[in-house]
Amino acid sequence: MKGYNKDMSIRMEPDDQLQFNCGRGLPCFTQCCQDVTIVLTPYDVMRMKNALRIPAEEFIDKYTIVIQKKRRLIPMVVLKMDEETKKCQFVSEKGCAIYDDRPWPCRMYPLDMHDDGTFGIIADKSLCQGFKQDQKIVISEWLLEQGIAIYDEMNHLFTQVTAPLQAQDLDIDNPKIFQMTFMALYNLDKFREFVFKSTFLKRFEVDDITIEKIKRRDIELLKFAFDWVKFGVFGQKLFFVKPEAMPKDK
Ligand code: SF4
Ligand code: SF4
Repeated sequence: MKGYNKDMSIRMEPDDQLQFNCGRGLPCFTQCCQDVTIVLTPYDVMRMKNALRIPAEEFIDKYTIVIQKKRRLIPMVVLKMDEETKKCQFVSEKGCAIYDDRPWPCRMYPLDMHDDGTFGIIADKSLCQGFKQDQKIVISEWLLEQGIAIYDEMNHLFTQVTAPLQAQDLDIDNPKIFQMTFMALYNLDKFREFVFKSTFLKRFEVDDITIEKIKRRDIELLKFAFDWVKFGVFGQKLFFVKPEAMPKDK
């Protein structure tokens, strides 16, 4: 999240204590949910659109801004604030309307993570009253309470897709590759149609257990989509064409 003065210079370890407690009674309650830049990962989008029970495409249209940069294969997907109030569209009087499925930066707040796995404070302590509360908690326990583990796991898998893109100067100008990559990562409902309603399963070897898993669970489908992008963009040997789908003359 941006919007507050960061004090990311400090480095706290997971077993350090944090004096912090957020709650409805605080005068600053939900003030941190306005005028902020929250970048969404594919897993964030999957959780949020499922919480709202709407298709991914509708979620992307209504609730995000997609920032496409030149020569950048994966655009930045940012949570859209209300144009007039500048508040996040999910803020209600009771707090976050999608609290159980809120994205990673909202779970982490008031902390953010450094690349080396230590933590800094992203909130402005003078505005965030949570730091004035008595409660102390070990950071690793606090993260557990925030349900961070599965987000970290999925974001780590996503990094395996994005990191090679930053390291390599890929000369991609085929718009279909851009569309396919965005669909696989951020439009899981369309990607599901692509897998199950096209000739995909006739063309590629996919074992029955994987087919069942990706049919039943979005999270498995998203992991499958990560592999598909790594195969399609970097040529990683994660998918194999069925012999019967090979061109006859080869
Ligand atoms: S205590 Fe901090 S995190 Fe909690 S509502 Fe207030 S500003 Fe936001
Ligand atoms: S998603 Fe929820 S927690 Fe995050 S900014 Fe919006 S209302 Fe606040």
